[in-house]
Amino acid sequence: MIKKIEHLGIAVNSIEESLPMFETLFSSECYKEEIVESEGVRTAFIRVGESKIELLEATNEDSAIAKFLSKSRGGFHHVAFEVEDIDSELERLAKEGFQLIHKTPKNGADNKRIAFLHPKSTAGLLVELCQEKSETSETSEVK
Ligand code: ZN
Repeated sequence: MIKKIEHLGIAVNSIEESLPMFETLFSSECYKEEIVESEGVRTAFIRVGESKIELLEATNEDSAIAKFLSKSRGGFHHVAFEVEDIDSELERLAKEGFQLIHKTPKNGADNKRIAFLHPKSTAGLLVELCQEKSETSETSEVK
C-alpha cells in the first residue's frame, strides 16, 4: 500500500550553488547530505511540511543524473512514494505489468530501501518507491 508522497527529487548541477536558494524558498534548512556511491549521486534533503525535497547532483559522468542534466535544464526528476512493504508492492506492480528498474529493493539515501519503476510504463514519470529501514529488522539481520 502506498502511504504518501515521501519526497520529490530535483536534479541540480551543483548542490553547493543551489541549496541556499532552496533553503530560502522553503524557509527550511537541509537536514542531511549523503553520497550514494552506487547511483553516482550526492543528495541533500530539505523538509517541506510533511514532505521532503531531495536535491540530486551527479558525482560522475555515468550517473543517471548527469545524463538527465545533459538532456534538460534540470529541475523535477522523480517522485518518491513511501510504501508500507516495498517487497510486496514491487511484486504487485510486476504482476500488473509495470517495468521495474530495480526488481529488488536496494539501499538508498536517508535510511531507505528504494526501487525505481521504468518511466516507459508510467507515462514518462520516474517513480521511486521507498520504505524506511526499520531498526528492528536491521538488528535482527545482525543477529
Ligand atoms: Zn529519491
